[in-house]
Amino acid sequence: MSLTSAEELKLKKKALDLRTNVLRMMKASRAGHVGGAMSSAEILTVLYFHIMNVSPENFKDNNRDRFVLSAGHKCLILYAALAELGFIDYSVLDTYGSMGCLLPGHPNMKIPGVEANTGALGHGLSISGGMAQGLKLNGSDARVFTVMGDGELAEGSNWEAFAAAAHHRLDNLLAFIDWNGLQIGGKTADVMNYSPLTEKLEAFGWSVINIDGHDLNAIVDAVTTASETKGKPTAVIAKTIKSKGLSFAEGKAGYHYWKASDEEIAEAEANLEQQRTELTAMEGGAE
Ligand SMILES: [Mg+2]
Repeated sequence: MSLTSAEELKLKKKALDLRTNVLRMMKASRAGHVGGAMSSAEILTVLYFHIMNVSPENFKDNNRDRFVLSAGHKCLILYAALAELGFIDYSVLDTYGSMGCLLPGHPNMKIPGVEANTGALGHGLSISGGMAQGLKLNGSDARVFTVMGDGELAEGSNWEAFAAAAHHRLDNLLAFIDWNGLQIGGKTADVMNYSPLTEKLEAFGWSVINIDGHDLNAIVDAVTTASETKGKPTAVIAKTIKSKGLSFAEGKAGYHYWKASDEEIAEAEANLEQQRTELTAMEGGAE
């Protein structure tokens, strides 16, 4: 176990805070890419609240760690994290989806804390590779973390980026692939099957780690292993559940993009409240 039980509980609560922020935006807009936002909640929680050296205070520092959300449509979870970090006010979350708001349906660099414009899929890994190479050229120890979708792998530009990152031995680059098995059109394996992905990425020269993408300790361990792996980039294939945390939507491709009814919003709120009650009980038990 890489986290103490207290650290793990704290991060579980943070992941729930992020999901709660996502629901807050969904309440405001009633539409958004909720499936991939919820499936990647633990990954962003560990990166932003346990691993990365990045904050509003050091965002201009060249030695900050970088985060690029290659699958830009998962931006609800990024915005949720940026609010928790203090990059944006919580009240801004309530404007999501409104005309001219700070938080559009895909992230851009006008938003405090966002490193790259993404949403046109298949570009985040190339951007991240460039950042990683630049950091190396500048003698910086900072790292670059990227979250990609599994459906996003069908963009051919990713495979150029995989090849280039290995060629340049970018061991300061770590790519998480949020492997929820679904994309907007159905099962990823039916739309474009990239299995066996581990072997393919290893053939491209990457170190590959397979984990449960909702297991906070496994995510921490993967980052630790990646930091100890020299001379090649690391990909973490994180097996996840689409819409994780919303019982009525889990594992359903139809919630890739959710147009939320009043009833579903109420059910989602009840789901998250139940999870908070359970975590509070665990907290009581730990004392
Ligand atoms: Mg997917």
